[in-house]
Parts: sequence; C-alpha cells; structure tokens
Amino acid sequence: MTKNLKTPKNVLAVFAHPDDMDFSSSGTIAKWAKKGATITYLVCTDGGKGSEDPLMTPKKLSLIRQKEQLAAAKILGVKDVIFLTHKDGELAPNMKLKEDISKVIRQKKPDLVITLDPTFLYSIKRGFINHSDHRAAGQATIDAVFPLARDRLNFPHHEKQGLSSHKVKTLLLVAMEDFTHCEDITSMFKVKLKTLRAHASQVAMDGVFEKRVRERSRIIGKKAGFRYGEGFKKIDLS
Ligand SMILES: [Zn+2]
Repeated sequence: MTKNLKTPKNVLAVFAHPDDMDFSSSGTIAKWAKKGATITYLVCTDGGKGSEDPLMTPKKLSLIRQKEQLAAAKILGVKDVIFLTHKDGELAPNMKLKEDISKVIRQKKPDLVITLDPTFLYSIKRGFINHSDHRAAGQATIDAVFPLARDRLNFPHHEKQGLSSHKVKTLLLVAMEDFTHCEDITSMFKVKLKTLRAHASQVAMDGVFEKRVRERSRIIGKKAGFRYGEGFKKIDLS
C-alpha cells in the first residue's frame, strides 16, 4: 500500500452530490489545502432528491444543498465550487456529462483528479448499494481524464474557446474497502467532522453519526498505521 502523497499543486474533485467528497475525502482535501494546494470541487447533480421531508421540493433542496456545499468548501479552504446541476438520481455517463467534465479539466488543468469508483456497485459487508449517480460521476470522470480531455481532437471547439488539451498525472478513486493508497487525516479529523456538520440537511450530527464516521476513519487508517485515514485506489498515469 502507498501512503501520503506529496502535496499536489492543483486538484480537481468530481462527484455526484453536495456532501459526497466531504464524506469520503475532506480530511485529505483539508490537509492539501492547508499546504497550499489549489482545489476545485465539481458537483455533477443538483442534489435535489435527498430528503424525506414531505414539504421539501427538489428546487428548494437543491438551493439548500448548494449553500451547504459552499459552507463546507469554505471550512476546507476549497476556493472554487462548480455546480453542473444535472438532475439528481438521473445522472448518466453520457457524452454531455463527459464533455462538461473534460471542459473543467481543460480549464483548471489539475495535476490530480479525485472521483468516485464506478466499479463499486454494492457492499455485502456494510449492507449498502452505491448510488447510481456516484457510479455515473466516476465513470464519466475517468473517461474525461482519458482520453477525452487529454487528446486535442476530442471536442475540437474547446480549442476555439482557448482551452488546450490537458494530461492529468494522478487519478484517485475513493475506496472504503479495497483501497491501495491511504492518506493520514489524523490532524484534520476535527475539520472533517466540521465539514460534515455543514451538510445539515443530510446528516444529523448526533453522537451516533459522529461515532460511525470516527469508526470508519479509524478502520481505514489502521491498515496504514494511522489513527484516522481515508482510502483510495491510486492510478499513476504515465
Ligand atoms: Zn451522494
């Protein structure tokens, strides 16, 4: 297993809903931001479906969740948050989404991209089905990293808009179970909890929830010799 990457200069995190990246990776993001990395969050959906409140509407929820994501980003030191506002629950790894992501890669020119693992469908151990939007965001991002954003003849109109092709050096896929790379988030664990508290429409930050986050981070960290960790699959693109 590899551990603790050298702080990247420029990071793009692509995910499906406001809160996804904060649950999975905010300790790592906070650590890198503190060390001077430029971080961009790209949220693919409007997050308009994640509520059981009978009075809630997708439009209202979407606005609440965007505000929550901006508040969480501020805590982390993430300066730029882009919302693509595709419909929550209906995200598909089609060419529209792939072009949206490719365009941001060409604009921001990240050396490292983090996204969700599209091969993760379910967990028997945790009794859990991975949301189809998570898989769609991950699939589209991988395809955007290679070959779409890298090779200039894809979306040739981007060049006319002043956007040159871009080669991403490292891809990290969020992985809770079968990870091959671990980041030590011990010093940032409190920041991670604070970030999650910003997503008030999604999490009741009670003792039970906090205990679950703590336990999951502890189990991941333990495999790498850290008190708390976040796990990824790391792909170095040569
Ligand atoms: Zn999600």
